[in-house]
Amino acid sequence: MTPETLAQRLLDGDRRALARAITLVQDNDPAGWELVREVYPHTGQAAVFGLTGPPGSGKSTLIGALVGARRAAGRRVAVLSIDPSSPFSGGAVLGDRIRLTDHFLDGGVFIRSMANRGALGGLSEAALQTALLMDAAGNDDVFVETVGVGQAEVDIIDHADTVVLVLIPGSGDSIQALKAGVMEIPDVIVVNKADHPLTDTMIREIRGVLSLAPQRGWRVPIVRTQALTGVGTDELVAKLEEHRAYIEAEGTLGDRRRRNLRAEVLALATTRMRRTLEARLADDDDFQAMLDEVVARRLDPASAARLIVDGDV
Ligand code: GDP
Repeated sequence: MTPETLAQRLLDGDRRALARAITLVQDNDPAGWELVREVYPHTGQAAVFGLTGPPGSGKSTLIGALVGARRAAGRRVAVLSIDPSSPFSGGAVLGDRIRLTDHFLDGGVFIRSMANRGALGGLSEAALQTALLMDAAGNDDVFVETVGVGQAEVDIIDHADTVVLVLIPGSGDSIQALKAGVMEIPDVIVVNKADHPLTDTMIREIRGVLSLAPQRGWRVPIVRTQALTGVGTDELVAKLEEHRAYIEAEGTLGDRRRRNLRAEVLALATTRMRRTLEARLADDDDFQAMLDEVVARRLDPASAARLIVDGDV
């Protein structure tokens, strides 16, 4: 299959083409990058939602409910589940994500999971490309789910149009991360497993943190849910729609995407420059000689770095 026909089939919404394209991207195959280049002009149509939160907080269960609601509204949905702590990729992780099984047979739902890309690195790079492919394939909504709070290596969540933080009563670490600014204030906060006796305490703590954050135009709602039984999920759907309408009306969606794309371009450029630099220096005798000087304490590391940046080595 040539990349051209694959791109066309992907744009036509062919699920097998999408699956194949994502595999190329996740394998860091140059054909994958080429494909993204081709379909990129067709992206930007999907509403991208990012859900993050500690493991076991109920993200997958909630996405299951959200997908149901969006499907009922006649929308095509894709889900990307990212688990950076897992050594497996593809089906292995997906097998665990049984909360989404209700939707496996629905042709309007595309589900894919990703795990550690190992030595190749660039998990968030691959995740972003994957989200773009899902968008290009004509999905109206893309849900991206990732474990963890404030994990710098998976900054895909920052690229969502709407960021949802899912907490459960007692997730003190996450409150600390918010307070300390490790994690940016999300757009919507969910307190799941809200039948727990500590729910009210948790909500008070969250309100406390939010009251310290700089006020933006959007007031961050706190939604109580019990994802397993569906309590509160309608309200969550409504809040997500409200946020979408808000960012579209205020023009913040455009600003936000510009900021995110800027970060993406810089991140890719930085990775490439680093690779280029390492390749250039790998067998460079001058560099080795300079390192000898640093080791012998005759040249300090910062001065050595400046010589490299200035092109003197
Ligand atoms: P994730 O790791 O954040 O994706 O969390 P999961 O969606 O896999 O949920 C973790 C566990 O909590 C699963 O066993 C769910 O069935 C369960 N769970 C999810 N939501 C609720 C809830 O509202 N109440 C209770 N009691 N259990 C829930």
